[in-house]
Amino acid sequence: MNESKPVEMVCSACGKDTLLVRKPKYEGFTRVGDELTCSSCGHEYADEASVPFKGRERVQVFTDGDRSPQVKVFREGEAARLCRYCISYVVNPFMQWCSTHKKEVQATDTCKQFKRKPEPKPDSTPPPEAPKKPVL
Ligand SMILES: [Zn+2]
Repeated sequence: MNESKPVEMVCSACGKDTLLVRKPKYEGFTRVGDELTCSSCGHEYADEASVPFKGRERVQVFTDGDRSPQVKVFREGEAARLCRYCISYVVNPFMQWCSTHKKEVQATDTCKQFKRKPEPKPDSTPPPEAPKKPVL
């Protein structure tokens, strides 16, 4: 494999201008795809389509095998329905979680049951801290 796939991206988890790390993923001895992670924070992307690559002019990212009718192209209007703006979107250091669907999501996912998170009030108290790890 000698394709030059793009690696430059702006991570949707840590917001850094960084690089994507591709590692082959195996199930037993069968290669089932690539593990796509952020080189800065280790955030894992579900697939190439959810990686926020820089400069999207390289559209030939997908091989014929990857192409499917479900491939979504983000348009301006859809950006407002991203999980990251949804009231059900819960994020912790290890996972992004949808409390409506009880499943792991990506900040860049979109959802039919999207409910916009209210704007934070200036006088609101900060969210409670995650429980502290016991000191061992
Ligand atoms: Zn990151």
